[in-house]
Amino acid sequence: MTQEKKQGKLTVHTENIFPIIKKWLYSEHDIFLRELIANAVDAMNKREAMDPDVKKDELQVEVKINKRKKALEIIDNGIGMTQQEIKKYINQIAFSGAEGFVEKYKDRQGKLIGQFGLGFYSSFMVAKKVTIDSLSFKKGAEPAYWECEGSTDFQLDVGKLKEPGTTVTIYLNKENEDFLENFKVKELIEKYCNFMPFPIVFDKKIVNIQKALWHKKPKDIEESEYKEFYKELFHQYEDPLFWVHLNVDFPFKLEGILYFPKINQIDFDLNRGKIKLFCHDVFVADDLKGVVPEFLLLLRGGMDIPDIPLNVSRSFLQEDKQVKKISQYIIKKVADSLKDIFKEDRKRYEGLWNDINHFIKYGMLTEEKFYENLIGQLIFKTTKGDYVTVDEYILRNPQEGKQKKIYYAPSEDLQVTYLNMMKEQGIEVIFAPTVLDGHIFQKIEMDKGNVSFVRIDSEINDNMVNKDKKEIVDQDNKTPSDKIKAVFEKALNNDKITVEVKSLKVKDIPAMVVFNEHMRRFQEMSQFANPEATDMLAQHTLVVNSENDTVKKILALNDKGKTQEVALLCNYIHELGLIEQKPLTGKELQSFIEKSNKILQMIE
Ligand code: ADP
Repeated sequence: MTQEKKQGKLTVHTENIFPIIKKWLYSEHDIFLRELIANAVDAMNKREAMDPDVKKDELQVEVKINKRKKALEIIDNGIGMTQQEIKKYINQIAFSGAEGFVEKYKDRQGKLIGQFGLGFYSSFMVAKKVTIDSLSFKKGAEPAYWECEGSTDFQLDVGKLKEPGTTVTIYLNKENEDFLENFKVKELIEKYCNFMPFPIVFDKKIVNIQKALWHKKPKDIEESEYKEFYKELFHQYEDPLFWVHLNVDFPFKLEGILYFPKINQIDFDLNRGKIKLFCHDVFVADDLKGVVPEFLLLLRGGMDIPDIPLNVSRSFLQEDKQVKKISQYIIKKVADSLKDIFKEDRKRYEGLWNDINHFIKYGMLTEEKFYENLIGQLIFKTTKGDYVTVDEYILRNPQEGKQKKIYYAPSEDLQVTYLNMMKEQGIEVIFAPTVLDGHIFQKIEMDKGNVSFVRIDSEINDNMVNKDKKEIVDQDNKTPSDKIKAVFEKALNNDKITVEVKSLKVKDIPAMVVFNEHMRRFQEMSQFANPEATDMLAQHTLVVNSENDTVKKILALNDKGKTQEVALLCNYIHELGLIEQKPLTGKELQSFIEKSNKILQMIE
């Protein structure tokens, strides 16, 4: 029986649905291709299941650009549709889906961002006309033809297709003719359809990977496969450091791989990492800000979460309870895999530390669970040449009393005098080179209660001072120390500097600059907020060594009334102390040397 030619009206309640689709989805109109290819893939899946005669390796989608017609063709050899089926699935079901969508989000126009799929009708975001040519795979089926020009009128007719399958032709509207560019179409297919399970042919080549590695069992995957997959997915040349294979069935289904790229301080950029979200192998989003904890965005990888609905906005995802559970799971898995490396191969862990410590510290500072999980794996390089955790440091450096001090220095090249003095006393010092360390210390102190982190230049250790030194007072009832203090205070003439005089065991150091730990941390934080406003080095204590010969000489010069020389010397000693904090630039060094020479002449 030949089906007669039909014309009709789409059964809709909202007459103006097409203008709404076009307007609302304007910024997301890329997704039409995803939707059409996904439909094609579905149809091939169905054919594979229902048609015993079909060979799986013959099933494929082809996307063609027809420049002459200004059209895109999506051609599949799936189950196809009869006229009846087109009527049912395209005219009624698909359309009511679109209509339901519009109903649901009517009041939330402005807030709607992110991804949502509208299925077949999303093609009208870019098309002035869409046609369907289809032939059902069922024996004796007749080809069907459908045409619609973005209004509620459609045409249904007998078609011309000879082989089972469906060709959807999108006649692009003027504003969207850029979809006729090869590179653009290729990019979209790669982005959205990379893992769809059938070949997608474009420009006579297969452009998709087809199989996402995360669907395979970890035990069946070679190390080289993980690396290859990473490179393919992110167009990277560099190997990832390592990866975490995620694989759960309950209480939600999730398969994915998260890769650790090298993350250093310079490109500590949350926008560089990428985690791609898929739903049944269809790409949904790669901007998961606000959906997963921020620090995870430093990683790269992909996850397939079938339970995450395709048709949702980001604000919806953020509030979704399931998504929160998923986040917690990922945090735990990432922490566990770091723990495993730490436990099984400490040397390897230490080798990775330089590249992963920012990630770990940032994660610990922003996610309580991550902190709790990894506090035992937070390590610091020390003056002994290896790495220690907080607990290991305390074990290695027994201290009396309940409160334990952990000494730290910013790096091996700064505060060298202090470092040497600590070394002489046999005290181990850890290095804390990053801005995040100060924050981490604060957190550990609060958490543990009995540890405090002390920068080596924030106090003169008791062991460094001659404790029983007695001083004789002169006729004005002043000790030499009192006098030194007064002389320096007058010479420096700066109320931000406190002068203290101590009898140090080492003679050859004239003075040391000391920063109060709490004051300095406070300054560091405010500097972080406003780098211009605070001079980190301004407020400090100058501890002058009463045992030092130059200091003694200053007192003598002072007694002789040589105020100019005294002022020059005091300032010089102060500057010398500050060099520990901030190495001099070439020019500064030059003028410092000149000054030193002048002063040496003066002392002789
Ligand atoms: P969804 O895919 O979410 O069901 P769509 O609007 O995209 O919604 O499609 C509606 C229906 O039309 C599909 O469920 C399917 O039955 C049918 N369909 C769409 N495209 C094709 C195709 N290429 N081949 C066969 N059937 C199709």
